[in-house]
Amino acid sequence: MNRRLIVAGNWKMNKNLMEAFTLASGVLAKAKKMSNKVEIVLAPPAPYLHTINSMSKDIAHVNIAAQNCHFESNGAYTGEISAEILHSMKIAYVILGHSERRKYFQETHEILAKKVTTAVKAGMKIIFCCGEPLEIRKSEREESYVLKQLEESLFHLSEAEMQQVVVAYEPIWAIGTGETASPSQAQDMHQFIRMQIAEKYTSEVADACSILYGGSCKPSNAAELFAQKDVDGGLVGGASLQAEDFLQIIQARAKQA
Ligand code: PEP
Repeated sequence: MNRRLIVAGNWKMNKNLMEAFTLASGVLAKAKKMSNKVEIVLAPPAPYLHTINSMSKDIAHVNIAAQNCHFESNGAYTGEISAEILHSMKIAYVILGHSERRKYFQETHEILAKKVTTAVKAGMKIIFCCGEPLEIRKSEREESYVLKQLEESLFHLSEAEMQQVVVAYEPIWAIGTGETASPSQAQDMHQFIRMQIAEKYTSEVADACSILYGGSCKPSNAAELFAQKDVDGGLVGGASLQAEDFLQIIQARAKQA
């Protein structure tokens, strides 16, 4: 298996300036001494990206992610940030398709497809989020729901471009709710996603694509989730806001590397 093991922390719209630098410093001080078998990704609010990227530049297994970008590469879009700008700042990743962006900012499949294209063309790596709401899971339609998200917003990429993509499976019913998908629910969906990538592209592309689990991932459940063969790491929200919890999740991934 040649895919990367990744633990990413999505800070969302949390932490003031001092808190953000305290959290980043706490994580980076320990990350420096950790095995480089696990790639650590920090996604702070946009105003902190540049400084936190500079703080982490000497630790090769740490990368920084933006939480969003616009679908155009530049222009009169007041308040927006483009993938070109992020790439010029040497920000490695952008998270796209997060359920909060889909819900609160009306990001449709079509808009996301454009964002994916623009980010990839700018040279960024993407963490592409997908995942079903509770009513879809209850009616056992989660696979077709997630497949549509992939087909409509991701599968237009070429085989070469897919190498810039990390997928994050985040069941919406598990995000910020304390409710986690069981290890077998996570494994089943990750395996399904990998199969779809293999069918659309090749088994080599599918094998190389890291698929992260997100949804109330925490120190107490990380190890059993990461023990699943298609769960390559985690996209962590709430538990990434405390250095100690986030570091424990990284350790759980490293132990099974
Ligand atoms: C997320 O929003 O990406 C997420 C996984 O959040 P939480 O860990 O808080 O459920």
